[in-house]
Amino acid sequence: MSELLIFNILLITVFTSAILIFIILFFIPAPYGRHMRKGWGITLKAKFGWFLMEFPSLAIVVILFFTGNKKMNPVAIIFLIFWTVHYFHRTMVYPFMMKGGNKKFPVLVLSFALIFNFINGYLNGRYLFYFSQPYPSDWLFDPRFITGAILFISGMFINIQSDYILLKLRKEGEKDYKIPYTGFFRFVSSPNYFGEIVEWIGWAILTWSFAGLAFALFTTANLMPRAYSNHKWYKSKFNSYPEERKALIPFIY
Ligand code: NDP
Repeated sequence: MSELLIFNILLITVFTSAILIFIILFFIPAPYGRHMRKGWGITLKAKFGWFLMEFPSLAIVVILFFTGNKKMNPVAIIFLIFWTVHYFHRTMVYPFMMKGGNKKFPVLVLSFALIFNFINGYLNGRYLFYFSQPYPSDWLFDPRFITGAILFISGMFINIQSDYILLKLRKEGEKDYKIPYTGFFRFVSSPNYFGEIVEWIGWAILTWSFAGLAFALFTTANLMPRAYSNHKWYKSKFNSYPEERKALIPFIY
């Protein structure tokens, strides 16, 4: 079986599983964070779980860049920078800023996420740095690259700002949940997810690739049902929860 055939099978698998998880997660929220519950097997420390889970996404794409055939291509280098900035923060910074004491994370969720991150890192890195036709330098002035880059950067800003607003709500060791009021929380309950989705839609546009599109769809399928569950959870936990706030998309949903 050729590598390209394996690549295409994995790509179709990601598209198909996006549809499946979108449906499943509306009924069964992934059991971590506020939706953590008993009966999901062994757990490990959340900080360590996040690091372990996200590290392959960083490492695989960097390895695929250096073993690929586009090391001198300026556009490929820009793609690598975008990806690495996101995943360096997610792997090396974010987990170590988490509070919540000795909060746990189920190994089962970690395993599913690891499998996805391996496949997704492979698909994006291998396509961009090996299978694709070299992107010409003037791709950086193409409206698709410019639009995608604006979405990617603004999505990352909203995502990181929102995550830090949440992390600052707790003092070290505190486990309780509070209502966030600042930043994009004025509009939605899960602006960090909104930012993440916008970011990867931007990535799909700026790379103009099926691998990028598969990632954007999977992220949406994963985070949209969770945003819905989070919104329901906030409303049931806090009587004073702002009425006008939507779940994920400002003014719409
Ligand atoms: P959450 O918003 O559920 O939690 C983020 C952090 O803030 C956690 O440490 C959480 O603690 C804490 N927190 C959340 N709400 C409150 C509150 N009301 N009061 C106090 N602390 C709070 O995000 P996730 O953990 O689901 O995701 C973390 C990051 O990973 C996000 O940026 C998300 O976009 C990204 N992500 C990306 C995915 C993808 O498919 N690309 C998939 C999943 C996540 P606790 O753990 O105790 O709940």
